[in-house]
Amino acid sequence: MALGKLPVLALQQRRQGLAKLLPPAEETLRGSLVERYVSCGNPDCRCARGQRHGPIWYLTVTLGAGRTAGWVVPPEQVDQVRRWIENYRRVKDDLEKISDINHELLRRSRPKKKAKK
Ligand SMILES: [Zn+2]
Repeated sequence: MALGKLPVLALQQRRQGLAKLLPPAEETLRGSLVERYVSCGNPDCRCARGQRHGPIWYLTVTLGAGRTAGWVVPPEQVDQVRRWIENYRRVKDDLEKISDINHELLRRSRPKKKAKK
């Protein structure tokens, strides 16, 4: 529903709900998890016949200006990394929603010229 149609109280409640459910900021991570299958180069290995090794998980992070960094994530950390990336996305989305609500509340609290006279 468009924010402009909700009463102030509903906006405040929605804002409160979003803030309460915000994922913990210390458990956030920007980047993407990618899965790769690799060959080791040994011509006698099974990977030389198409059965590549893996999955090997990488975290890739954009550093801006087209630069990216990446490194291997150990299997036992993959779940946590996945969760923290999801938290990062949610924190960003929810902050955006809270900000939209605050924009709307600010707009409404602006003094109206007509009413004053
Ligand atoms: Zn191999």
